[in-house]
Amino acid sequence: MHRKLLSCFQSIAVPYIALDDTDSVKGMCTTFLLTEVIRSFPELDVIGYPRLVRLNPNIPWKTRGNAALSVFLGKGMGNRLKIGEIGGREIYSYEKGRDYGDVGEIFNTVVSLVEKWAVFDDEKTNPGVVVSRRKPSQSFYWKAVRSPVSLEDAISELESTGALYKGFKNKRGLIGATASLSWRPRKRTYELIAYRYREKWGKPREIDEKSVVEMDRKFPETFDNYDYRNRYIAISPHTPCPILYGIRAVSPYNLENAHRTVKGEKEERWMIFLSNQGTDDNMVRKKIRDIRGYESVIVRGTVEREPETIEGGHVIFSISDGTGIVDCAAYEPTKEFRDVVRELIKGDVVELYGGVRSEPFTLNIEKMRVLHLENRMVKIHNPRCPKCGKRMKSTGRDGYYRCRNCGIKVKGGEEMEELKRGIKEGWYEVPVCARRHLATPLKIMPLL
Ligand SMILES: [Zn+2]
Repeated sequence: MHRKLLSCFQSIAVPYIALDDTDSVKGMCTTFLLTEVIRSFPELDVIGYPRLVRLNPNIPWKTRGNAALSVFLGKGMGNRLKIGEIGGREIYSYEKGRDYGDVGEIFNTVVSLVEKWAVFDDEKTNPGVVVSRRKPSQSFYWKAVRSPVSLEDAISELESTGALYKGFKNKRGLIGATASLSWRPRKRTYELIAYRYREKWGKPREIDEKSVVEMDRKFPETFDNYDYRNRYIAISPHTPCPILYGIRAVSPYNLENAHRTVKGEKEERWMIFLSNQGTDDNMVRKKIRDIRGYESVIVRGTVEREPETIEGGHVIFSISDGTGIVDCAAYEPTKEFRDVVRELIKGDVVELYGGVRSEPFTLNIEKMRVLHLENRMVKIHNPRCPKCGKRMKSTGRDGYYRCRNCGIKVKGGEEMEELKRGIKEGWYEVPVCARRHLATPLKIMPLL
């Protein structure tokens, strides 16, 4: 009886391994480090998918992409699916698994991998490693993706699950590692990441642009591959990191084929990750008076101050909802999205998705839904003279006109027309080249 209970417990207690904050703008990538973890345990299988979890994108002390990684390793059981290749070895995801291997040993190996690869000389790089048989509470993920979270909160979660953990330097990486373990997906996407040979790191990437376009057209379940208007390959990063490119999709099944369609530099390894990218998990619906810095919010309001283009090409306007008024911005990097925003007039009703910047306090728009367009009458001609029928001249006094022929003076009577609007009611979003990791592109909104 006792043995049976014990084995039953063990079958669900697969060791979870989590990592965060090992990379820097100067190089490395925590996703690569996770593939090194998988490579270092050839006797262990991946249960489910490795996870790439993005956290609150607005906090000022975040690392490069603010991604935290985790994986469940054990002895695989049930159905399996190929999810990657590392050094010629095929990696499979198993639907179920049982505990295997020594947690303490696993922990020591992962710590030494972080010590080998992490960019310790960057002051913003503060790695965290967690190995646990139990997951922290789900609420920790929702806190970490939506607001700033303290290191103390993360550590008390880890203590309550009995995890083995180690934080380096200021230990902030423990927050992301804990959040990654606590994620139970409601919405999910996938990303296949291909990595470069070591000797190529830091050198320009060779990716055939046409083949990226072909892949984008052939695989409609993928997203954010290519920006057609700005001719921008969005799948590849611009840092000296080990990533060749990453292809995002709402389903994992065709990702290997999509990857084979992209031509150029040969990859050294590739891996499919389960992710919260593109889920809008960070977004919280709020009244304007309740908005705080560093949050990502959905707010509905009426345009109060009309759009104005300021130095640098940024477009700023404000909306109010009866509880407050907030400045909203479409910054220069959002390119043609600014043309949409410039069409707004006072009285239009919009719903905005965006990140809140603290200084100056501004909502940085990622997506906009135009709910109502105000009807505005604009003058197209001065009135005609009631006596001779000629067009009258403005007197300079507001609303008064005089006929040059007859000397007659009238007030009002202009010919008016409804203002022609350059936008329609409906959804608008920033272009692919300006997309943030967690933002749901309109293309996949109905699919999640
Ligand atoms: Zn007249």
